[in-house]
Amino acid sequence: MNVRGPIVSVEDTRTVSTSYGDRELREIRIRPERGAADPVRVTLWGKWAQTGEHARIGMELLVTDVEVDEFRGETTYATTRESWVVLEPDFLVDVTGIRSWVQCPRMYYLNKLSGIPLNYPVVKGTIVHEVFGDLLRGVDLEESVTERVAEAGLDLGLLGYDAAEVEDEVRRNAAAIEGWLAQGTLTDEDTWRSEFTLISPRFGLKGRADALRRGTPVELKTGKNTNREPRFHDKVQAACYALMLEERGEDPDIGTLLYTKNTALDRNEESGDLAPAKEFSVGRGFLEFVVRERNALAAMEWRALHDAANDDAPDVDTVDDDGGDEARTRPTVPTGYEADAKCQFCFEQDTCMVVSGRLDQESKAGQVGRPVPDEELVYFDRFYTAIEEERRETHAEYRKLWEQTPAERAADDRALIDLEPLGKTEISEARWELRARKPGDAVSKLREGDVALASDGDPVGGHAELVRIRRLGPDGEVVVEADEPVTLRRLDVYPSEISVDRMLTALHDAVLKGDPDRKDVIFGRREPAFKSVVGSGAAGDADLSDEGAEPVYIDNNASQNAAVDLAVRAADCALIHGPPGTGKTYTIARTIRALCERGDRVLLAAFTNRAVDNALEALRDQGFEDVVRVGTETGVREDMQDVRLRTRGDPDERAAELKTAPVVAATTAACGSRVLRECEFDVALVDEASQLTEPSTHAAITLADRFVLVGDHQQLPPVVRAENDLQRSLFERLIELYPDAGVMLDRQYRMSQRIQAFASAEFYDGALRPATPAVAGQSLTDLGVAVDDLPEELGHGVNFIDPDGRRDGNRNVREAERVAEIVASYIKAGVDPDDIGVIAPFRAQVAEISRRTDVTVDTVDRFQGSAKEVIVVSFVASGTLDGPIFDDYRRVNVALTRAKKELTLVGDAAALASDPFYRRMLAWARR
Ligand code: SF4
Repeated sequence: MNVRGPIVSVEDTRTVSTSYGDRELREIRIRPERGAADPVRVTLWGKWAQTGEHARIGMELLVTDVEVDEFRGETTYATTRESWVVLEPDFLVDVTGIRSWVQCPRMYYLNKLSGIPLNYPVVKGTIVHEVFGDLLRGVDLEESVTERVAEAGLDLGLLGYDAAEVEDEVRRNAAAIEGWLAQGTLTDEDTWRSEFTLISPRFGLKGRADALRRGTPVELKTGKNTNREPRFHDKVQAACYALMLEERGEDPDIGTLLYTKNTALDRNEESGDLAPAKEFSVGRGFLEFVVRERNALAAMEWRALHDAANDDAPDVDTVDDDGGDEARTRPTVPTGYEADAKCQFCFEQDTCMVVSGRLDQESKAGQVGRPVPDEELVYFDRFYTAIEEERRETHAEYRKLWEQTPAERAADDRALIDLEPLGKTEISEARWELRARKPGDAVSKLREGDVALASDGDPVGGHAELVRIRRLGPDGEVVVEADEPVTLRRLDVYPSEISVDRMLTALHDAVLKGDPDRKDVIFGRREPAFKSVVGSGAAGDADLSDEGAEPVYIDNNASQNAAVDLAVRAADCALIHGPPGTGKTYTIARTIRALCERGDRVLLAAFTNRAVDNALEALRDQGFEDVVRVGTETGVREDMQDVRLRTRGDPDERAAELKTAPVVAATTAACGSRVLRECEFDVALVDEASQLTEPSTHAAITLADRFVLVGDHQQLPPVVRAENDLQRSLFERLIELYPDAGVMLDRQYRMSQRIQAFASAEFYDGALRPATPAVAGQSLTDLGVAVDDLPEELGHGVNFIDPDGRRDGNRNVREAERVAEIVASYIKAGVDPDDIGVIAPFRAQVAEISRRTDVTVDTVDRFQGSAKEVIVVSFVASGTLDGPIFDDYRRVNVALTRAKKELTLVGDAAALASDPFYRRMLAWARR
């Protein structure tokens, strides 16, 4: 049996005499049933007592295979020879993290901060790994090498490498794999799996094994190793996979490390064991060691978030708001003293000393340089903690993979279950297309282009593969692309940590590598500067016909013109506040043109692919074609594929394409990629900036000398799981800090006067106005609709209907029926179904309504950035106001401002009237 629960007390380690001699033990009390039960005593014997040294009150402890005893009427538990002791099992440590942790805990921390840079060993390693996978799938060596090197064309070009020389080196590395395969090590009975995604609920581990051979892990290393034994940290990595395989019922007794560079070595010059494959036995003692190391790491991460409440934590003297000194507790990070690695032999020594110096951290390697100013240290610590909290929220999403039943996951929109497999087609030698049909009304958060976890029905214990969704057809057909032909019975949202990792790297780059002048503005030490007159040639093709006149970029909209002008004159940054329908995208395109005309190279970034492509479309509509779009084939819209940067091909050509383009466009997530981190720009223009966390904004703006943020902090805030500093965007902070560095676009081209009135008054101080009388006075009659044919409650521009429905879970059936009737009335009166949109706060209600109508039905988040002639909003709530749409008034602003000519609100009037804001909304809608 297993026991598990939060720790309530930890005793010191004691040594006791037993029949086996002296043994150490440590007693810990936990509250089982996730803290709900009374405390029980658990005794950790032998080396598990070392894990007890890392235990703290509040951490979660899991002990498996315990011995149960009764002592003075109390049930007690103790470890046995079969027990595993796991601290914080819900914290999922990546296997590569443990590998660096055992080399030196501080190295783990440094790798987390700086991410994986673009360098040749990393790129070559990736190519060799892909060739390895190809060989296992039976692809011809030459074909694979040529193909995989060509695929890495862009990376190699940016690094200045020539394809032929790389092919040669990869071929020599691949020879190790081929030679090993040919040596007869393998037989026909071998069962191979390449690239195996593993997640361990028990050990709190996750990772992707390079390959499994007869159920044992095989790891590929592109370095050399002339010792007989595999390197220690490589063994630890393989042992982690062995642990996870054991949890799945395998019994891996050996691990294999394949050092591919060994075959490329000259036997006359190198001594030692040049055999590439080195095996080691995976003994119980070694696995326990690995679990203890994992526990030490998980405990450190726990302390990083919790030590602030602990008086023993390290602190730093800072200056408080009143100018006085205050001691501030800093997050716990590894110093290097936790282990016995020798700094003088460490590749990371320089980085380690610089990071320690700049962040004023204690480290075994010592410090170099002066610390960044106190406010930057405070900022770094605050966001480091916030990002790590977000990581834990991401882990909680993983946990739902095994804690929720398939039905619960489906009801939560996190999975498509009970898929009926339709077939598998090998589309190339290393890729498969898998098809299935989903049950009639199944809905989920999954979208075409997403990476998802496809499985045979059990994503944790069964066969699961990461796949890319190609198609989610209205006919129910699901098409995905995968490396391995898994039987497609279930598709789960995969809670990737990439955005968390990239936020951390962006934070590191912004604080440690950021331009000091730029940081003066970001950290409130100096107002942003603007050039008073645009320098020679700077106004480009703007109209300067009157001597001494301000340049005119847009002659029919003063606020848009002022926004372009401000952006062009910005010496540091400019902020463009764009409420709904105010021509933000047009202004962005005009701004980019103006910047390029004065010789600037521009990075165009946005939170979503859709916004990037919309801005590019506007730019091209204005006749500017010299653009490069960075993104995946599925992420980039069809009409922008012709300017999409191909990563495959001749290295020099690919790199030149990226490095010389006057405008490079990408999502902010892509800005954190190792390729774009290699690029430099004069200006970064970031759209949807109010939906980005501060670190995600840094990912784009640190690539440029100046930046322009475009957004609307009165619409959707950043999308994060944790409730902390990440919920506020840099855009919002700066526009409040520097109102003079911003321009609000105040003429809207979307909504009738009647529809815009509420949003203008509530969110924009009444400053938002229709751009023209035609915009203000638009109505359904402009669409040729006979308004008299509509029921009495519709056709007034803004309408409110209370269907007297009742919320049941996340749906309200009566309301869904009423919404469908309303939509049918509009269609009957002559509104084109394509001109109608329905917004609901929950996917369940979206599904409920979608069953009854063919018009577009979606959530608020999915509607941001788009508009329809007619919008119907279903509020679902009854009795009390509860649901994501009510968490934040700004969501309602988005919903209400999607409509051009007619807006119908459907909900429980009594519930809405219980909140002053919604009471005002009701009064407006019923006017
Ligand atoms: S320099 Fe020393 S403390 Fe820093 S990562 Fe390397 S071994 Fe660890």
